[in-house]
Amino acid sequence: MSRPQTSHLFYQSRQRRPVLDQARGVYMWDVDGKRYLDGSSGAMVCNIGHSNPRVLEAMRKQMDKSTFGYRLHFETEPAELLAARTAALAPEGLEKVFFVSGGSEAVESAIKLARQNAIAIGQAQRYKIISREPSYHGCTLGALALTGYAPLTAPFDPMMRPMPKIPAPRAYLDGLDPDDEATGRHYADMLEAKILSEGPETILAFIVEPIGGASTGALVPPKGYMQRIREICTRYGVLLIHDEVMTGGGRTGKFFAGEHWNVDPDILVISKGFAAGYAPLGAMIAHKDIVTNVLDNGGFLHGFTYAGNPLACSAGLAVLDEIERENLCQNAAETGALLKSELKKLMDRYSIIGDVRGEGLLLAFELVEDRASLRPLAKELNAFNELVDIAYENGLIIYSRRTRGGYSGDHFLIAPPMISTPDHVAEIIEGLDLSLRQFLDRISQ
Ligand code: PMP
Repeated sequence: MSRPQTSHLFYQSRQRRPVLDQARGVYMWDVDGKRYLDGSSGAMVCNIGHSNPRVLEAMRKQMDKSTFGYRLHFETEPAELLAARTAALAPEGLEKVFFVSGGSEAVESAIKLARQNAIAIGQAQRYKIISREPSYHGCTLGALALTGYAPLTAPFDPMMRPMPKIPAPRAYLDGLDPDDEATGRHYADMLEAKILSEGPETILAFIVEPIGGASTGALVPPKGYMQRIREICTRYGVLLIHDEVMTGGGRTGKFFAGEHWNVDPDILVISKGFAAGYAPLGAMIAHKDIVTNVLDNGGFLHGFTYAGNPLACSAGLAVLDEIERENLCQNAAETGALLKSELKKLMDRYSIIGDVRGEGLLLAFELVEDRASLRPLAKELNAFNELVDIAYENGLIIYSRRTRGGYSGDHFLIAPPMISTPDHVAEIIEGLDLSLRQFLDRISQ
């Protein structure tokens, strides 16, 4: 298929992109035969690479049996098996799995489970969920109310109940040492202060991306932060929700990012890397006591038609097999360490790179006007679009956001599939080097 003159599709803008023809491993080809290295795994989704033959075969086998079984009519083997495998990977006590089709649905499910738990245990006055600014938790109105990013939320403010926010721990911007426990305490204590100022009896939950995704650009929390957050939540009877929609599935070097600090949430949500782009799939994994409370109190008032779709679950199972068989969490840790050190070398050559951060294969760099002040690049330069476009021309796909302070600051997520090799790292660095040089040439004209 060639590109149609007029498209009847629409997404965020009028921007058109190449028409995808096929994808294999870490590469994608457009209909003109141009090859791209998928340096962001789509939107941090295609963790095990594209068109994995074993996953496709598993899905084909399931397709021959059934592609849909409504969850209130039938239990299915793939859903049952995947729930058991997922629970076994999750922290102790998080034994109950609720399937959905994406990240926003998973967050929405966590909101509603937490609320129904509060009602079940006689704490119906708890309804506020504290989140961070900036953060991204999804596009549905419930998840959006937790999203700390005004450009996305402002138009809908009158339609959502305002939810309390605390600052994300961006130590690099505040001139604090992320390796100092005092820094972790400084940011975590903002949660306690917020709980106290809002009234602990009204706080239902705190939701956090253990390692920041699109909103903060692979932000790794400072030392001690996640542990202290856990302590504070426990102290005030506030449920801790880990939004692992982007980090879950091994990308950060551990299957769940919370494992980096041995911190267990009460509810965990996962999606992107779960079926890794082979099918729309997400899950909410909840502590068994919460689920028992809710089910004993009349049931969970929530559910999506496609939940537990057997085809999606068969893809999820095959993806888990692949992660285990190929040791992909470890590869994400090792290849990620190499990629991070190469990105830091780029920082030596380009003073506009103000920060390199992340863990495993969830990495990012941020462009600045001046490294000392970390002042963002001028908004008019449109760096977050420009550099991505140049990289496209050079056959490299990267993922960018402009979120610093809500409106300015450009960061770029570098998150290739977990099957990436040192050769792929070299190719990514070469593509970035060339693209940064061309970007600098462009803005100096
Ligand atoms: N939470 C996080 C941390 C995410 O990164 C995303 C997607 N970028 C979502 C929730 C929403 O997921 P989806 O787009 O699949 O609805």
